[in-house]
Amino acid sequence: MQVDLVIVGAGFGGSLMAMIARRLGLSVVLLEQGRHPRVVIGESATPLSNLLLEKLSMTYDLPRIAPLAKWGSWRRTYPHIACGLKRGFTFFHENGGQLLVAASPHDEIADTHWYRADVDLFFVIEAQRLGVHYRDCARIETLQIAEDSVNIHGAASDGPFRFEARLLIDATGPRGFLYRILQLEEAPLPGLPATQALYSHFTGVARTEDCDDANPYPVDDAAVHHVFPGGWVWVLRFSNGITSAGVAATQDAAGEFRLSEGEAAWERVLDRLPKLRAQFVQAVACQPFRYMPAVSFRSRKIAGQRWAMLPSAAGFVDPLLSTGFPLTLLGIERMAQVLNHGYTLERYADETEQDLLAANRLISALYSTMGNFDAFTAVTLIYFAAVSFSETAQRLGKTELASGFLLRERPEFWPAVNPLLRKASEFGDTRAFLEEVLRVIEPFNIGRFGDPAYCNRYPVRAADLMAARGKLTASEEEIVAMLARTGFAERRTEG
Ligand SMILES: Cc1cc2nc3c(=O)[nH]c(=O)nc-3n(C[C@H](O)[C@H](O)[C@H](O)COP(=O)(O)OP(=O)(O)OC[C@H]3O[C@@H](n4cnc5c(N)ncnc54)[C@H](O)[C@@H]3O)c2cc1C
Repeated sequence: MQVDLVIVGAGFGGSLMAMIARRLGLSVVLLEQGRHPRVVIGESATPLSNLLLEKLSMTYDLPRIAPLAKWGSWRRTYPHIACGLKRGFTFFHENGGQLLVAASPHDEIADTHWYRADVDLFFVIEAQRLGVHYRDCARIETLQIAEDSVNIHGAASDGPFRFEARLLIDATGPRGFLYRILQLEEAPLPGLPATQALYSHFTGVARTEDCDDANPYPVDDAAVHHVFPGGWVWVLRFSNGITSAGVAATQDAAGEFRLSEGEAAWERVLDRLPKLRAQFVQAVACQPFRYMPAVSFRSRKIAGQRWAMLPSAAGFVDPLLSTGFPLTLLGIERMAQVLNHGYTLERYADETEQDLLAANRLISALYSTMGNFDAFTAVTLIYFAAVSFSETAQRLGKTELASGFLLRERPEFWPAVNPLLRKASEFGDTRAFLEEVLRVIEPFNIGRFGDPAYCNRYPVRAADLMAARGKLTASEEEIVAMLARTGFAERRTEG
């Protein structure tokens, strides 16, 4: 069978890519080694990823995908697809430090955690509705890449297959299909320590019941991070009573916990973090513990003649700050332009790599400051300033202000931020580091990040945005119109 495009891997990334390619008029085959529904993690969305999802669904006429971009529309439209409410990022440090950064002003337009078994099943069904030819339990036996076509052959649940395509997209995640079959090399991620992870899904996880009125949202309705020197734990709650939790740690810390031992190691993690232990007293793992001996990955090659990797197949840094979804969706946005002849594969590969390296620089700095929560907090402010500025600029239609993930193409931002991130752990004086961070992010800081009045608990306030409108070259009317468009004022608006 001759087709335009073969996509290998039907996570949400592969399925969304397939839908967009169908909307561009291409014939598409989607091959998945497993069978949906299946449990995977990589669950927490962000304002930027939701903005991208919304944009892609509008640009490529995918109205059935759009409701997933906000908690309120998701719950109303697809109550059977489990998700969690994510009002922001909560950080607890082992030494008692706390940081709360709201990402939305109220629940209706909040972000979500995706219960991937349900979500990925939904995406793959939608892809088939749009005419994608889907084969599961696929085992690929041979791949031949010629000058003008790709030949792929193997067997799926319903029998053998052989396809000739103009392009192959690898959406199989880190160390995936093309990396293995083409025997590609792994490249280093500069500055990032090697890390391991251990995770599962649980029932019976208690809420922390921290109901301080000064908090901008209930602390559990967030991506909750418990940070300690050498690692961190994530806790993400879903609407179906399941909670996703796991730990990522450097080799030393992972060795102390002996993460490869699974459940026993998880108990040792809980012993180390009493606040977390209190939540897990009644908790029971409802999936086998999964151990990842190596979390991060970077392929030296991202695209070649007749093939390309989606960002998650090209590389992955760490779950910290949920950069996986936005990078995946940025990659899909660019790949759609490749398919639409607006972009070259070389440019796609270069941009994908630059995004990954920017995420790597940020996350390396976070790992290097995990022992000093004030310095760690200062590094997170760089992230929150960059993403909130980018998101708002895009929502105002001023995309030229927000070029590149983490504003990496803004000459006033990234060249100043990069050296700071590089030497984050070397600053003897944390206060001097914070001051330097605040100075550098100031032209992009639209959320009063670092303002002591907020005591490390940052809300999303219309008044702050309005006061910072000059940084976005926006008028009062433009801000008011954007807030109305995005549903900002519909409920419990603050400020
Ligand atoms: C521990 C961990 C936690 C994470 N947490 C977050 C988070 O909170 N937020 C966030 O934004 N990102 C997170 N990520 C990253 C996130 O998982 C990815 O960005 C996201 O899953 C990418 O989606 P995808 O569909 O491209 O790939 P995947 O979700 O990796 O899907 C790949 C698909 O390909 C299939 N496949 C694999 N090999 C083959 C093969 N040879 N042939 C056919 N099919 C194959 C798999 O079965 C799977 O269905 C996390 C990653 C890890 C490792």
